[in-house]
Amino acid sequence: MNLRNIVHTRTYSEAAGELEKIMNRGDVVLFKGSRWFRLERLARDLVGSIGPTRLLVNLDAIAANIKKIRAIVGDSVEIMSVVKSFGYGNDSIRTSKVALENGVTYLAVAFPDEGATLRENRIDAPILVFNVLPEEADKIIRYRLNSAIPSLDLAEALNVAAKGCPKIPVHLKIDTGMGRSGVWHEEAIPFIEQVFKMENLCVEGIMTHFSSADDPDSDNYTLAQIAAFNKVLDRAATLGRSFRYVHAANTSALVRFPETRYSMVRPGLAIYGMYPSASVSNLVDLDQVITFSTKIAQIKSHPAGRCISYNRRFITCRDSRIATLHVGYNDGYPRFQSNRGHALVRGQRAQVVGTVCMDTLMIDVTDILEASVGDEVVLIGRQGAEEILPDEIASNGGTINYEIVCKISPRVTRIFVQS
Ligand SMILES: *Cc1c(COP(=O)(O)O)cnc(C)c1O
Repeated sequence: MNLRNIVHTRTYSEAAGELEKIMNRGDVVLFKGSRWFRLERLARDLVGSIGPTRLLVNLDAIAANIKKIRAIVGDSVEIMSVVKSFGYGNDSIRTSKVALENGVTYLAVAFPDEGATLRENRIDAPILVFNVLPEEADKIIRYRLNSAIPSLDLAEALNVAAKGCPKIPVHLKIDTGMGRSGVWHEEAIPFIEQVFKMENLCVEGIMTHFSSADDPDSDNYTLAQIAAFNKVLDRAATLGRSFRYVHAANTSALVRFPETRYSMVRPGLAIYGMYPSASVSNLVDLDQVITFSTKIAQIKSHPAGRCISYNRRFITCRDSRIATLHVGYNDGYPRFQSNRGHALVRGQRAQVVGTVCMDTLMIDVTDILEASVGDEVVLIGRQGAEEILPDEIASNGGTINYEIVCKISPRVTRIFVQS
Protein backbone atom coordinates (compact mmCIF):
# COMPACT_ATOMS: atom_id res chain seq x y z
CA MET A 1 0.00 0.00 0.00
CA ASN A 2 1.10 3.55 -0.68
CA LEU A 3 2.75 4.73 2.54
CA ARG A 4 0.87 8.00 2.33
CA ASN A 5 -2.36 6.03 2.81
CA ILE A 6 -1.17 4.54 6.08
CA VAL A 7 -1.69 6.42 9.32
CA HIS A 8 -0.21 5.36 12.65
CA THR A 9 -1.96 6.35 15.85
CA ARG A 10 -1.39 5.50 19.49
CA THR A 11 -4.86 5.85 21.01
CA TYR A 12 -8.44 5.03 20.04
CA SER A 13 -9.46 8.66 20.08
CA GLU A 14 -6.54 9.63 17.85
CA ALA A 15 -7.57 6.87 15.45
CA ALA A 16 -11.19 8.00 15.53
CA GLY A 17 -10.07 11.57 14.83
CA GLU A 18 -8.02 10.46 11.82
CA LEU A 19 -10.85 8.34 10.48
CA GLU A 20 -13.39 11.10 10.84
CA LYS A 21 -11.24 13.31 8.59
CA ILE A 22 -11.56 10.90 5.70
CA MET A 23 -14.93 9.23 6.30
CA ASN A 24 -17.93 10.25 4.23
CA ARG A 25 -21.62 9.45 4.35
CA GLY A 26 -22.27 5.96 3.03
CA ASP A 27 -18.72 4.74 3.57
CA VAL A 28 -18.18 1.27 4.94
CA VAL A 29 -15.41 0.82 7.50
CA LEU A 30 -13.89 -2.58 8.25
CA PHE A 31 -12.31 -2.95 11.67
CA LYS A 32 -9.78 -5.73 11.77
CA GLY A 33 -7.56 -6.73 14.65
CA SER A 34 -7.25 -9.38 17.27
CA ARG A 35 -9.86 -9.52 20.00
CA TRP A 36 -7.22 -8.29 22.41
CA PHE A 37 -7.11 -4.84 20.76
CA ARG A 38 -10.83 -4.35 21.44
CA LEU A 39 -11.43 -2.43 18.25
CA GLU A 40 -15.16 -2.35 18.98
CA ARG A 41 -14.34 0.58 21.26
CA LEU A 42 -13.09 2.47 18.25
CA ALA A 43 -16.22 1.51 16.35
CA ARG A 44 -18.33 2.89 19.18
CA ASP A 45 -16.39 6.19 19.16
CA LEU A 46 -17.06 6.52 15.46
CA VAL A 47 -20.76 5.79 15.81
CA GLY A 48 -20.63 8.69 18.26
CA SER A 49 -19.97 11.03 15.36
CA ILE A 50 -23.34 10.22 13.79
CA GLY A 51 -26.25 12.54 14.68
CA PRO A 52 -27.76 11.97 18.13
CA THR A 53 -31.13 10.61 17.02
CA ARG A 54 -30.85 7.00 15.95
CA LEU A 55 -32.76 3.83 15.44
CA LEU A 56 -30.72 0.86 16.58
CA VAL A 57 -31.94 -2.24 14.76
CA ASN A 58 -30.87 -5.49 16.34
CA LEU A 59 -30.53 -7.91 13.45
CA ASP A 60 -29.86 -10.81 15.81
CA ALA A 61 -33.30 -10.23 17.33
CA ILE A 62 -34.87 -10.35 13.86
CA ALA A 63 -33.11 -13.66 13.22
CA ALA A 64 -34.32 -14.97 16.59
CA ASN A 65 -37.91 -13.93 15.84
CA ILE A 66 -37.85 -15.72 12.49
CA LYS A 67 -36.61 -18.85 14.25
CA LYS A 68 -39.50 -18.55 16.70
CA ILE A 69 -41.96 -18.28 13.83
CA ARG A 70 -40.30 -21.29 12.22
CA ALA A 71 -40.72 -23.25 15.46
CA ILE A 72 -44.43 -22.36 15.50
CA VAL A 73 -45.23 -23.24 11.89
CA GLY A 74 -42.89 -26.21 11.49
CA ASP A 75 -40.62 -27.11 8.61
CA SER A 76 -43.21 -27.81 5.95
CA VAL A 77 -44.59 -24.26 5.78
CA GLU A 78 -42.71 -21.54 3.92
CA ILE A 79 -42.28 -18.12 5.47
CA MET A 80 -42.91 -14.99 3.41
CA SER A 81 -41.43 -12.01 5.22
CA VAL A 82 -43.54 -8.88 4.78
CA VAL A 83 -41.07 -6.01 4.44
CA LYS A 84 -43.44 -3.29 3.23
CA SER A 85 -43.23 0.24 4.57
CA PHE A 86 -39.43 0.20 4.78
CA GLY A 87 -39.52 -3.06 6.72
CA TYR A 88 -41.99 -1.61 9.25
CA GLY A 89 -39.59 1.31 9.68
CA ASN A 90 -36.58 -0.93 10.33
CA ASP A 91 -35.07 -0.73 6.81
CA SER A 92 -36.33 -3.20 4.25
CA ILE A 93 -32.98 -4.06 2.68
CA ARG A 94 -31.03 -5.10 5.74
CA THR A 95 -33.98 -6.87 7.33
CA SER A 96 -34.78 -8.72 4.09
CA LYS A 97 -31.23 -9.97 3.88
CA VAL A 98 -31.31 -11.19 7.47
CA ALA A 99 -34.68 -12.84 6.87
CA LEU A 100 -33.39 -14.66 3.79
CA GLU A 101 -30.31 -15.84 5.68
CA ASN A 102 -32.58 -17.32 8.33
CA GLY A 103 -34.87 -19.49 6.26
CA VAL A 104 -37.36 -17.04 4.77
CA THR A 105 -37.93 -17.94 1.11
CA TYR A 106 -40.28 -15.22 -0.10
CA LEU A 107 -40.56 -11.47 0.46
CA ALA A 108 -43.63 -9.26 0.17
CA VAL A 109 -44.06 -5.52 -0.26
CA ALA A 110 -47.07 -3.25 -0.65
CA PHE A 111 -46.05 -1.44 -3.86
CA PRO A 112 -43.91 -2.13 -6.93
CA ASP A 113 -41.51 0.70 -6.08
CA GLU A 114 -40.70 -1.01 -2.79
CA GLY A 115 -39.92 -4.18 -4.71
CA ALA A 116 -37.74 -2.24 -7.15
CA THR A 117 -35.70 -0.89 -4.23
CA LEU A 118 -35.02 -4.44 -3.05
CA ARG A 119 -33.95 -5.54 -6.54
CA GLU A 120 -31.69 -2.49 -6.89
CA ASN A 121 -29.99 -3.65 -3.73
CA ARG A 122 -29.28 -7.07 -5.19
CA ILE A 123 -31.98 -9.01 -3.42
CA ASP A 124 -32.83 -11.91 -5.72
CA ALA A 125 -35.48 -13.80 -3.76
CA PRO A 126 -39.04 -13.93 -5.13
CA ILE A 127 -40.95 -10.78 -4.18
CA LEU A 128 -44.75 -10.58 -4.10
CA VAL A 129 -46.30 -7.13 -4.52
CA PHE A 130 -49.68 -6.80 -2.81
CA ASN A 131 -50.98 -3.63 -4.50
CA VAL A 132 -50.25 -3.14 -8.19
CA LEU A 133 -51.99 -0.83 -10.66
CA PRO A 134 -52.43 -1.79 -14.33
CA GLU A 135 -50.13 1.09 -15.38
CA GLU A 136 -47.35 -0.39 -13.23
CA ALA A 137 -47.19 -3.60 -15.25
CA ASP A 138 -43.89 -2.61 -16.89
CA LYS A 139 -42.26 -2.19 -13.51
CA ILE A 140 -43.39 -5.65 -12.46
CA ILE A 141 -41.65 -7.08 -15.51
CA ARG A 142 -38.53 -4.92 -15.38
CA TYR A 143 -37.81 -5.77 -11.75
CA ARG A 144 -38.91 -9.41 -11.96
CA LEU A 145 -41.63 -8.91 -9.35
CA ASN A 146 -44.56 -11.21 -8.73
CA SER A 147 -48.00 -9.70 -8.42
CA ALA A 148 -51.07 -10.29 -6.33
CA ILE A 149 -54.11 -10.22 -8.62
CA PRO A 150 -57.17 -8.61 -7.02
CA SER A 151 -59.09 -8.08 -10.26
CA LEU A 152 -59.39 -9.19 -13.86
CA ASP A 153 -58.34 -5.70 -14.99
CA LEU A 154 -54.90 -6.08 -13.48
CA ALA A 155 -54.56 -9.65 -14.75
CA GLU A 156 -55.33 -8.47 -18.28
CA ALA A 157 -52.90 -5.55 -18.10
CA LEU A 158 -50.10 -7.82 -16.89
CA ASN A 159 -50.93 -10.46 -19.47
CA VAL A 160 -50.65 -7.90 -22.27
CA ALA A 161 -47.47 -6.33 -20.89
CA ALA A 162 -45.75 -9.70 -20.45
CA LYS A 163 -46.16 -10.69 -24.09
CA GLY A 164 -42.78 -11.93 -25.33
CA CYS A 165 -41.34 -11.88 -21.80
CA PRO A 166 -41.05 -14.67 -19.25
CA LYS A 167 -44.42 -15.45 -17.66
CA ILE A 168 -45.27 -13.33 -14.61
CA PRO A 169 -45.89 -15.41 -11.47
CA VAL A 170 -49.16 -14.24 -9.91
CA HIS A 171 -51.14 -14.91 -6.73
CA LEU A 172 -54.93 -14.66 -6.94
CA LYS A 173 -56.39 -12.52 -4.20
CA ILE A 174 -59.71 -13.63 -2.73
CA ASP A 175 -61.79 -11.35 -0.48
CA THR A 176 -63.29 -13.51 2.24
CA GLY A 177 -64.37 -10.62 4.45
CA MET A 178 -61.52 -8.13 4.70
CA GLY A 179 -63.45 -5.89 2.33
CA ARG A 180 -60.30 -4.41 0.87
CA SER A 181 -58.90 -5.78 -2.38
CA GLY A 182 -59.54 -9.07 -4.09
CA VAL A 183 -62.44 -10.83 -5.75
CA TRP A 184 -65.35 -11.71 -3.46
CA HIS A 185 -65.12 -15.41 -2.59
CA GLU A 186 -68.53 -16.28 -4.02
CA GLU A 187 -67.40 -14.95 -7.40
CA ALA A 188 -63.94 -16.48 -7.23
CA ILE A 189 -64.30 -19.54 -9.47
CA PRO A 190 -64.93 -17.79 -12.83
CA PHE A 191 -62.14 -15.32 -11.94
CA ILE A 192 -59.71 -18.15 -11.18
CA GLU A 193 -60.61 -19.89 -14.45
CA GLN A 194 -60.11 -16.74 -16.49
CA VAL A 195 -56.68 -15.94 -15.04
CA PHE A 196 -55.50 -19.53 -15.53
CA LYS A 197 -56.27 -19.11 -19.23
CA MET A 198 -54.01 -16.05 -19.63
CA GLU A 199 -51.00 -17.32 -21.48
CA ASN A 200 -48.39 -14.85 -20.18
CA LEU A 201 -49.23 -15.33 -16.51
CA CYS A 202 -48.25 -18.24 -14.31
CA VAL A 203 -50.71 -18.72 -11.43
CA GLU A 204 -48.46 -19.89 -8.61
CA GLY A 205 -50.50 -18.80 -5.62
CA ILE A 206 -53.85 -17.99 -4.07
CA MET A 207 -54.34 -15.84 -1.00
CA THR A 208 -56.77 -14.13 1.32
CA HIS A 209 -56.35 -11.70 4.22
CA PHE A 210 -58.01 -11.63 7.63
CA SER A 211 -59.79 -8.65 9.06
CA SER A 212 -59.78 -9.47 12.77
CA ALA A 213 -57.49 -12.42 13.51
CA ASP A 214 -55.93 -10.51 16.44
CA ASP A 215 -59.25 -10.14 18.23
CA PRO A 216 -60.70 -13.09 20.20
CA ASP A 217 -64.12 -11.41 20.23
CA SER A 218 -64.17 -11.75 16.45
CA ASP A 219 -63.07 -15.37 16.21
CA ASN A 220 -66.40 -16.40 14.67
CA TYR A 221 -65.80 -13.91 11.89
CA THR A 222 -62.28 -15.24 11.32
CA LEU A 223 -63.58 -18.82 11.26
CA ALA A 224 -66.13 -17.78 8.64
CA GLN A 225 -63.33 -16.23 6.55
CA ILE A 226 -61.35 -19.48 6.84
CA ALA A 227 -64.38 -21.53 5.80
CA ALA A 228 -65.04 -19.29 2.79
CA PHE A 229 -61.41 -19.59 1.67
CA ASN A 230 -61.43 -23.37 2.10
CA LYS A 231 -64.56 -23.60 -0.01
CA VAL A 232 -62.86 -21.68 -2.82
CA LEU A 233 -59.83 -23.99 -2.57
CA ASP A 234 -62.04 -27.10 -2.67
CA ARG A 235 -64.00 -25.94 -5.69
CA ALA A 236 -60.82 -24.94 -7.51
CA ALA A 237 -59.40 -28.40 -6.74
CA THR A 238 -62.43 -30.16 -8.21
CA LEU A 239 -61.78 -28.17 -11.38
CA GLY A 240 -58.19 -29.40 -11.35
CA ARG A 241 -56.72 -26.07 -10.28
CA SER A 242 -53.93 -26.31 -7.73
CA PHE A 243 -51.53 -23.75 -6.36
CA ARG A 244 -47.92 -24.00 -5.27
CA TYR A 245 -48.53 -21.31 -2.65
CA VAL A 246 -51.69 -21.08 -0.58
CA HIS A 247 -51.41 -18.35 2.01
CA ALA A 248 -53.59 -16.36 4.36
CA ALA A 249 -51.94 -15.88 7.72
CA ASN A 250 -50.54 -12.60 9.01
CA THR A 251 -48.83 -12.63 12.41
CA SER A 252 -52.07 -12.95 14.37
CA ALA A 253 -53.51 -15.76 12.29
CA LEU A 254 -50.33 -17.82 12.13
CA VAL A 255 -50.08 -17.74 15.91
CA ARG A 256 -53.77 -18.10 16.79
CA PHE A 257 -55.21 -20.21 13.96
CA PRO A 258 -52.96 -23.15 13.00
CA GLU A 259 -55.35 -24.10 10.17
CA THR A 260 -54.52 -20.84 8.36
CA ARG A 261 -50.88 -21.72 7.79
CA TYR A 262 -51.53 -23.64 4.55
CA SER A 263 -48.27 -23.81 2.55
CA MET A 264 -46.95 -20.35 3.46
CA VAL A 265 -47.42 -17.71 6.16
CA ARG A 266 -47.01 -13.93 5.80
CA PRO A 267 -45.74 -12.45 9.06
CA GLY A 268 -44.74 -8.81 9.27
CA LEU A 269 -45.04 -7.40 12.76
CA ALA A 270 -43.76 -10.48 14.61
CA ILE A 271 -40.48 -10.41 12.71
CA TYR A 272 -39.90 -6.94 14.12
CA GLY A 273 -40.57 -8.16 17.65
CA MET A 274 -44.02 -6.70 18.18
CA TYR A 275 -47.44 -8.16 18.90
CA PRO A 276 -50.68 -7.27 17.12
CA SER A 277 -52.59 -7.72 20.39
CA ALA A 278 -52.45 -9.27 23.85
CA SER A 279 -54.06 -12.42 22.47
CA VAL A 280 -50.88 -12.94 20.44
CA SER A 281 -48.35 -11.89 23.11
CA ASN A 282 -49.90 -14.47 25.43
CA LEU A 283 -48.87 -17.21 23.01
CA VAL A 284 -45.42 -16.23 21.80
CA ASP A 285 -42.45 -14.43 23.30
CA LEU A 286 -40.53 -12.30 20.79
CA ASP A 287 -37.25 -10.40 20.97
CA GLN A 288 -37.44 -6.62 20.97
CA VAL A 289 -35.69 -5.35 17.82
CA ILE A 290 -35.51 -1.57 17.91
CA THR A 291 -34.18 1.11 20.20
CA PHE A 292 -35.14 4.66 19.21
CA SER A 293 -32.86 7.02 21.05
CA THR A 294 -31.38 10.48 21.16
CA LYS A 295 -29.24 12.54 23.53
CA ILE A 296 -29.92 15.43 25.84
CA ALA A 297 -28.91 18.51 23.85
CA GLN A 298 -29.41 21.14 26.55
CA ILE A 299 -30.71 21.40 30.11
CA LYS A 300 -32.23 24.60 31.47
CA SER A 301 -33.30 25.48 34.98
CA HIS A 302 -36.61 27.31 35.18
CA PRO A 303 -38.45 28.75 38.17
CA ALA A 304 -42.15 27.96 38.58
CA GLY A 305 -44.36 29.72 36.04
CA ARG A 306 -42.26 29.37 32.87
CA CYS A 307 -44.00 28.36 29.66
CA ILE A 308 -42.54 25.47 27.69
CA SER A 309 -42.84 25.16 23.90
CA TYR A 310 -45.48 26.25 21.37
CA ASN A 311 -48.79 27.62 22.62
CA ARG A 312 -47.77 27.42 26.29
CA ARG A 313 -49.33 24.04 26.86
CA PHE A 314 -47.00 23.35 29.78
CA ILE A 315 -46.18 25.78 32.57
CA THR A 316 -43.63 24.79 35.21
CA CYS A 317 -45.21 24.48 38.63
CA ARG A 318 -41.95 24.22 40.59
CA ASP A 319 -38.24 24.88 40.14
CA SER A 320 -37.61 22.63 37.15
CA ARG A 321 -34.84 21.26 35.02
CA ILE A 322 -36.11 20.89 31.48
CA ALA A 323 -34.04 19.06 28.87
CA THR A 324 -34.24 19.76 25.14
CA LEU A 325 -33.90 16.82 22.73
CA HIS A 326 -33.12 17.00 19.03
CA VAL A 327 -36.00 14.83 17.92
CA GLY A 328 -39.52 15.83 16.91
CA TYR A 329 -42.58 14.84 14.98
CA ASN A 330 -40.68 15.01 11.71
CA ASP A 331 -38.61 12.11 13.00
CA GLY A 332 -41.77 10.14 13.67
CA TYR A 333 -42.08 10.94 17.36
CA PRO A 334 -45.82 11.62 17.47
CA ARG A 335 -47.08 15.08 18.32
CA PHE A 336 -49.83 13.51 20.43
CA GLN A 337 -47.10 12.70 22.96
CA SER A 338 -47.13 16.40 23.94
CA ASN A 339 -47.51 16.61 27.75
CA ARG A 340 -48.22 12.90 27.69
CA GLY A 341 -45.40 10.64 26.66
CA HIS A 342 -42.34 9.54 28.55
CA ALA A 343 -38.70 9.00 27.69
CA LEU A 344 -36.00 7.16 29.64
CA VAL A 345 -32.97 8.92 31.09
CA ARG A 346 -30.53 7.07 33.34
CA GLY A 347 -33.03 4.25 33.60
CA GLN A 348 -35.82 6.50 34.84
CA ARG A 349 -38.95 7.92 33.24
CA ALA A 350 -39.04 11.60 32.30
CA GLN A 351 -42.27 13.18 31.08
CA VAL A 352 -42.55 14.97 27.75
CA VAL A 353 -43.52 18.55 28.60
CA GLY A 354 -45.15 21.01 26.26
CA THR A 355 -45.88 20.59 22.59
CA VAL A 356 -43.69 18.22 20.56
CA CYS A 357 -42.11 20.39 17.82
CA MET A 358 -41.01 19.39 14.33
CA ASP A 359 -37.36 18.88 15.29
CA THR A 360 -37.22 19.14 19.06
CA LEU A 361 -39.09 18.29 22.21
CA MET A 362 -38.66 18.90 25.90
CA ILE A 363 -38.66 16.49 28.84
CA ASP A 364 -38.75 17.19 32.55
CA VAL A 365 -35.63 15.85 34.26
CA THR A 366 -36.11 17.69 37.55
CA ASP A 367 -36.35 14.41 39.48
CA ILE A 368 -33.44 12.74 37.69
CA LEU A 369 -30.71 14.58 39.54
CA GLU A 370 -27.78 13.13 37.64
CA ALA A 371 -29.25 13.85 34.20
CA SER A 372 -26.78 15.83 32.12
CA VAL A 373 -26.15 17.06 28.61
CA GLY A 374 -25.08 14.21 26.32
CA ASP A 375 -26.98 11.54 28.25
CA GLU A 376 -28.66 8.91 26.13
CA VAL A 377 -32.47 9.28 26.04
CA VAL A 378 -34.50 6.25 25.02
CA LEU A 379 -37.79 7.05 23.29
CA ILE A 380 -38.63 3.45 22.38
CA GLY A 381 -36.81 0.50 23.89
CA ARG A 382 -35.18 -0.54 27.12
CA GLN A 383 -32.85 1.37 29.40
CA GLY A 384 -31.88 -0.27 32.66
CA ALA A 385 -34.97 -1.82 34.20
CA GLU A 386 -37.41 0.48 32.38
CA GLU A 387 -38.90 -0.06 28.97
CA ILE A 388 -41.10 1.93 26.60
CA LEU A 389 -42.77 -0.17 23.93
CA PRO A 390 -44.30 1.18 20.72
CA ASP A 391 -47.59 -0.12 22.16
CA GLU A 392 -47.42 2.37 25.04
CA ILE A 393 -46.99 5.29 22.65
CA ALA A 394 -49.71 3.92 20.38
CA SER A 395 -52.24 3.76 23.18
CA ASN A 396 -51.55 7.42 24.06
CA GLY A 397 -52.60 8.32 20.54
CA GLY A 398 -55.44 5.89 20.04
CA THR A 399 -53.50 4.02 17.39
CA ILE A 400 -51.55 0.77 16.98
CA ASN A 401 -47.86 -0.09 17.30
CA TYR A 402 -47.71 -0.68 13.52
CA GLU A 403 -48.32 3.02 12.87
CA ILE A 404 -45.74 4.18 15.40
CA VAL A 405 -42.83 2.16 14.00
CA CYS A 406 -43.53 2.57 10.30
CA LYS A 407 -43.54 6.34 10.75
CA ILE A 408 -40.04 6.60 12.23
CA SER A 409 -38.71 8.84 9.50
CA PRO A 410 -35.75 8.36 7.17
CA ARG A 411 -34.08 11.34 8.90
CA VAL A 412 -33.33 9.04 11.82
CA THR A 413 -30.03 7.22 11.20
CA ARG A 414 -30.44 3.46 11.29
CA ILE A 415 -27.62 1.61 13.00
CA PHE A 416 -27.61 -2.15 12.59
CA VAL A 417 -26.29 -4.35 15.33
CA GLN A 418 -25.25 -7.91 14.58
CA SER A 419 -22.98 -10.15 16.55
C1 LIG B 1 -49.23 -6.24 6.15
C2 LIG B 1 -49.73 -7.51 5.64
C3 LIG B 1 -49.33 -8.71 6.26
C4 LIG B 1 -48.50 -8.78 7.52
O1 LIG B 1 -49.33 -8.49 8.63
P1 LIG B 1 -48.76 -8.51 10.14
O2 LIG B 1 -49.96 -8.28 10.97
O3 LIG B 1 -47.78 -7.40 10.22
O4 LIG B 1 -48.12 -9.82 10.35
C5 LIG B 1 -49.74 -9.89 5.65
N1 LIG B 1 -50.51 -9.89 4.55
C6 LIG B 1 -50.94 -8.74 3.96
C7 LIG B 1 -51.80 -8.81 2.74
C8 LIG B 1 -50.58 -7.52 4.50
O5 LIG B 1 -51.00 -6.38 3.92
